[in-house]
Amino acid sequence: MDNLPRLIDRLEQNQVLNKEDFIRLIEKHTPDTDEYLFQKADRLRQENYGNEIYIRGLIELTNYCKNDCIYCGIRRSNRNAQRYRLEPEDIMECCRTGYELGFRTFVLQGGEDGWYTDEKVCQILTAIKKDYPDCAVTLSLGERSRESYQAWFDAGADRYLLRHETATPEHYAKLHPPELSLARRMECLHNLKEIGYQTGCGFMVGSPFQTAHHLAQDLLYIHELQPQMVGIGPFIPHHDTPFAKKPAGTVEDTLFYLAIIRLMLPKVLLPATTALGTIDPNGREKGVHAGANVIMPNLSPLSVRKKYMLYDNKISTGEEAAESVTLLKKRMEAIGCQVIIGRGDYKK
Ligand code: SAM
Repeated sequence: MDNLPRLIDRLEQNQVLNKEDFIRLIEKHTPDTDEYLFQKADRLRQENYGNEIYIRGLIELTNYCKNDCIYCGIRRSNRNAQRYRLEPEDIMECCRTGYELGFRTFVLQGGEDGWYTDEKVCQILTAIKKDYPDCAVTLSLGERSRESYQAWFDAGADRYLLRHETATPEHYAKLHPPELSLARRMECLHNLKEIGYQTGCGFMVGSPFQTAHHLAQDLLYIHELQPQMVGIGPFIPHHDTPFAKKPAGTVEDTLFYLAIIRLMLPKVLLPATTALGTIDPNGREKGVHAGANVIMPNLSPLSVRKKYMLYDNKISTGEEAAESVTLLKKRMEAIGCQVIIGRGDYKK
């Protein structure tokens, strides 16, 4: 096993490794060393969050997007995507259903759609906070000005998810069109953190052209940013994008990075993502055993769920759906965990 267990011990102790050691861990890990890593990650999750699993109701506001990220099924140049956007009343209806099902965090995610002006998002936030003062709201609406982020924070938004996607500029340029830059994305993340959001970055595992160097750089960036949340899921190709023929990221690799993140940031809010649930029916349970403590079932209206297709075969009817929260609770109980009704904030 080389001396990887010692390296994993060191990662747990110092919460970071240098770049060479990260690369060694990434290139040399085996199913045996993964098992060692998962046990530590699972234990750290329990030490920090007990047997509690937090759920978030994901509301996919819009699949209109002005961006053209090469990997994404809702990219601007995908003429085959049927576009939709939810009106504020639709969003409130999703929250009402979600609240009854036991959700106390709503995640408003969408493409970068100018229809949702600062004022409109503020109105939506004010309405949610008025009707559900005991709930947290997470936004995931992409890159905006510092002023917009500040206005939304002031209107009650608690958290913001903006994956950095890759912390290497050359790799970023292979995944995105020239008008998007890593520097701008990092600036947004810096602003979000400074404003006071519980901030989430993250990346796709197995994205096209990704190397061990890129992944090591991602881990070092995460260490530097010290986010409260990290979103990590496998890349899955979408047939209407230039990456249609690229291979998907694997379950094993995704679990490996989830566990590493738990060791680096013991208190982090770490979702077992929909993408992980898409490539493996037990992806969420496996994610929890690798250190994940958050699940984000889909609360979007059934009529639009199939249209928010970021990648092929995205699960959109079964247990990922918020309606199946009872089933989800049972599945979590079966692995010794308990789905919590509550905001599920970052524990300082
Ligand atoms: N527009 C916002 C943004 O860019 O942060 C939020 C929506 S965006 C669709 C949410 C995330 O979906 C991205 O950060 C990306 O990592 C993920 N995603 C997009 N296409 C994907 C694919 N083909 N496979 C896996 N994840 C994908």
